Amino acid sequence: MSAAELLTIGAGIGSGAIAAGLGYCCLYHNSQVVAPVISRIESSGSVALTFDDGPTPRFTEPILKLLAKANVQATFFCIGENILANRSLVSDMLSAGHCIGNHTWNHDHTGIFGSKSYWHRQVERTSDLIAELSGSPPRIFRAPMGFKTWQQAAAVRAAHMRYIGWRSWAWDTTNVSPQGIYRRITRRLAPGDIVLLHDGLEYARRQASQAATVAALPEILSSIIDRGWRAVSLGAL
Ligand SMILES: [Zn+2]
Repeated sequence: MSAAELLTIGAGIGSGAIAAGLGYCCLYHNSQVVAPVISRIESSGSVALTFDDGPTPRFTEPILKLLAKANVQATFFCIGENILANRSLVSDMLSAGHCIGNHTWNHDHTGIFGSKSYWHRQVERTSDLIAELSGSPPRIFRAPMGFKTWQQAAAVRAAHMRYIGWRSWAWDTTNVSPQGIYRRITRRLAPGDIVLLHDGLEYARRQASQAATVAALPEILSSIIDRGWRAVSLGAL
């Protein structure tokens, strides 16, 4: 093998390693490289349930009823466009003591390539709408799919929000049964965990369903309560 060929292979490995490193920084939901991310709460006997991509009447309404029945508060990371179409659901969340977080204006999957001004618009427009309904802007942000970029982080910082990640999840936006969601969430659940579930549909999944999440929730709540833990909202911390 010639020196030139070796150099070519070396450059390939080098660029592959850089791409892998960048991928970890930006794509791994709890990566701290782009910005600090909170993925656990400091609480010995509590977990924090979070619901993303709502609000949507079909799934948020039954979830709110189940949470009320269990006397549990949670956190909802809402999409601006969904809030605009379902303002009353946000009012219901607030009056039940739940916490609202910013999950961008439209959850566009190409947003990872967005500029600083793109991210300022995505973040500010959503925070302004939440402030209009709740009286104060949200303090927490969850990146769509957990993907972070430096442009996005600048907008999140400028809006005085903290990134929230998650420790426990069930792939409940894919075709998982209620039993599968229950098992995945509860088998390794530990106090302090932030749990990711979904009560809504982002634009790319507007024909999909979160019915399995709704069906799994009573057992998940029972499992938390039976262990003597509490489920709390991030606003309570
Ligand atoms: Zn999402």
